[in-house]
Amino acid sequence: MSASPQSTPGDLPFYEAARKIYPREIDGRFSSLRKAAVVALLGLFYGLPWLSLDSHQALLFDLPARKFHIFGLTLWPQDFLYLAILLILAALTLFFFTALAGRLWCGYACPQTVWTELFTWIEQWTEGTRGKRMKLDRGPWTLEKVFRKTLKQVLWIGLATYTGYTFVAYFVPIRQLSDQLWHLSLGPAATFWLFLYSLATYGNAGFLREQVCKYMCPYARFQSAMFDRSTLIIAYDQQRGEPRGARRRGVAARAQGLGDCVDCTLCVQVCPTGIDIRKGLQYECIACGACIDACDQVMDRLGSSRGLIRYTTEDTERGFAVRIVRPRTMVYAALLLGLSGYLAYSLTTRMPLIVDVIRDRNALYREVQGTQIENTYALKVINLDHGAHAYQLTASGIDGLRVAEPAEAFQTPAGSVSNVVVRLRAPADRATGVRRITIAVEAIDQRSIHVTENTRFIGPTS
Ligand code: SF4
Ligand code: SF4
Repeated sequence: MSASPQSTPGDLPFYEAARKIYPREIDGRFSSLRKAAVVALLGLFYGLPWLSLDSHQALLFDLPARKFHIFGLTLWPQDFLYLAILLILAALTLFFFTALAGRLWCGYACPQTVWTELFTWIEQWTEGTRGKRMKLDRGPWTLEKVFRKTLKQVLWIGLATYTGYTFVAYFVPIRQLSDQLWHLSLGPAATFWLFLYSLATYGNAGFLREQVCKYMCPYARFQSAMFDRSTLIIAYDQQRGEPRGARRRGVAARAQGLGDCVDCTLCVQVCPTGIDIRKGLQYECIACGACIDACDQVMDRLGSSRGLIRYTTEDTERGFAVRIVRPRTMVYAALLLGLSGYLAYSLTTRMPLIVDVIRDRNALYREVQGTQIENTYALKVINLDHGAHAYQLTASGIDGLRVAEPAEAFQTPAGSVSNVVVRLRAPADRATGVRRITIAVEAIDQRSIHVTENTRFIGPTS
């Protein structure tokens, strides 16, 4: 018989099979913080698409219309720079936060952590405590097991589907999406993304869980490069805790030759990634603080001081003061301040009007009534504002230059494009050769909305 591709000839497996982790439920300071973060962040995620501003969804990435509505600000493809800056700011904030506070993002705010927490709550509610869940998995398929497992799956699938629906609602207005779902008329793209995101939520938060952090997340791998001796980490106080072991009641641990760790393994049982923090800092640790809560409870029961496992820094452990101001935090802070300032300035001075001028290439010029030279242009006027505007054209650069068409102001609705044919006329004796002129477009109801574009006016060579 040939050896399977996953085994050596000696039947030693190449890979260790993933061990299912049953995190023990825990209460405490950091557990409450994590719950508050889950409620706040998921509240934002599920609630934001229902928020309206100026009669449309406050946060909507309307890809078919190529418009991004971000809390009263409408960004167009021409505004891609702002989006790029926003993304760079998000990345820099994460780097800055990691340099200061280590993996707090992973432990409290990462979508993987937040949804896994929610799915775990459902699991605890339907299958019971850690011990009961382990027993249920080991036991035979009884009626109760079928009922509990089915209830969990129904709730998980329902939550994952609602999550997929909410995700799509950031790209399709949520009321329109609900209506399409209700009438079973959802388009293929929306159906695809709803299905894919639901599946990703179900798979990542229900099954893969800590394996996403351990094996799939690139951030987990490169963030150690952002760590230094002043970065916040979770650490077990080896000097205080060792030698670990069970002890007799009523006799001081030191008198028994023991440290403060009673080796109850509670810190391991509550760990969502299944590691033993007593072995030292490991890349699997997402700094969630569950082991601190567990160990603090044990220390409280023993009457010892808390903090055998704690948030700390390498500098603190060596007796140095924590340095918040250090080169890497300063560089991140300076970049953040600079980019935020530039973004704020650009957005507040942003002109909600774009004008493109193209000269008519079919005719260089036209003589009109023997005394005038006429040039024709195609104007593309994009109104980036939230309201409609009436725009007026003026032209300058040659004495006597005037706009012959359009004779009156033209209206462009909010978020729309007007293609306007423009005819400019200038006295024939002044419009000779190639002249540089300026076309100005101004909103007559709001004079501050004003754009000028340079172009050429061509007349006969004298
Ligand atoms: S919870 Fe505390 S006392 Fe218990 S094993 Fe972990 S470190 Fe030791
Ligand atoms: S070691 Fe502690 S802080 Fe790190 S992931 Fe496990 S429980 Fe969370």
